[in-house]
Amino acid sequence: MSLDLQNLRVSYGAVRALDGVTVKIEPGEMFFLLGPSGCGKSTLLRSVAGFIEEFDGDIRIGSESLKGVPPHRRDFGMVFQNYALFPHLTVFGNVAFGLEARGVASAEIKTRVTEALKLVGLSGYEERRPGELSGGQQQRVALARALVIRPRVLLLDEPLSNLDAKLRWEMRSEIKRIHAQTRITTLYVTHDQKEALSLADRMAILKDGKIEALGRPRDLYWNPPSRFAAGFLGDLNELQGTLGADAMVKTALGEIAIPSGRPEGVSASGTVTVFCRPESVALAAAEGGALPAGHAELTAGATVAGSAFLGEYTLYEIDLPGGARWRSYRHEGAGAGLSDGAKVRVGVADGSWRVVP
Ligand code: ADP
Ligand code: MG
Repeated sequence: MSLDLQNLRVSYGAVRALDGVTVKIEPGEMFFLLGPSGCGKSTLLRSVAGFIEEFDGDIRIGSESLKGVPPHRRDFGMVFQNYALFPHLTVFGNVAFGLEARGVASAEIKTRVTEALKLVGLSGYEERRPGELSGGQQQRVALARALVIRPRVLLLDEPLSNLDAKLRWEMRSEIKRIHAQTRITTLYVTHDQKEALSLADRMAILKDGKIEALGRPRDLYWNPPSRFAAGFLGDLNELQGTLGADAMVKTALGEIAIPSGRPEGVSASGTVTVFCRPESVALAAAEGGALPAGHAELTAGATVAGSAFLGEYTLYEIDLPGGARWRSYRHEGAGAGLSDGAKVRVGVADGSWRVVP
């Protein structure tokens, strides 16, 4: 079923938490809402779940308005950051709870709980209590509890935020697998851009209660519509400039051609930010070094300000003539790398410059 938010506005007294959100989530889609703390993500999810009754606009499932429909009548499954399991109930009891409340017969409950626990990889844990499970396992129970009612929509509010990095990665793949298997329309909110980029069919970036950008992960990452969206999805290397004719931008380091042309909202001779991602930046020693093919030299007068060897790549911070500080992710194998203070030439991969207002 599609989930259709139409000009949704929610206020807490004088605080406007959602300021006109319109988006349609398609049947079976895994849709992400991404944004910084306080931008209104939980408010949106709670409105959809039915915990916030006072709102303007409409929330529809298919063609049915959810105005005035209480939470337990929506048949939505919900998973929160803090598991919210009943500590005194067993795993079976926790997962069965929603079915018991709906008056489902006990034989049917047994079948469906068994099926839900299998789906989340917890067969055999029926008699444990939440206190006897790891954080990741508790979150699987919460997921099973949300799925067992066969929800029309699955709502997830930062479900991985309390897990350590390794478990987060593991649960991310689990959620992907479960979604592929069930195809339940899913609305997932998070402040973690990696989670959104790796899982979303489509995503929206929320800022101050408004949708700032909407699209597929790769499109948004490589062609963000604003500086905020660009910076929220990853690291940026920026230069300020003015847009000239033919999508050329004049900067302190020369003219830069923008492959995507002049973006919306930028006037013909306007001031713009041009940027590229750190993975598009190549470095070579200024004396005797050569840039790899497919990179145009921006300057030969940059300086290594610092570096961090991170195993699979090295993160360099470099100072450009004119004062900009940039980053480069450099894959350099077992080589020695570039030392601090070294003079370097900087190349930018062809086709990777972008411009925002
Ligand atoms: P997020 O989940 O993105 O961090 P929230 O939806 O929790 O954001 O909050 C959005 C805004 O509404 C914030 O400014 C927050 O302080 C405010 N807010 C959230 N809940 C309440 C509440 N119950 N009463 C008053 N203000 C609230
Ligand atoms: Mg929140």
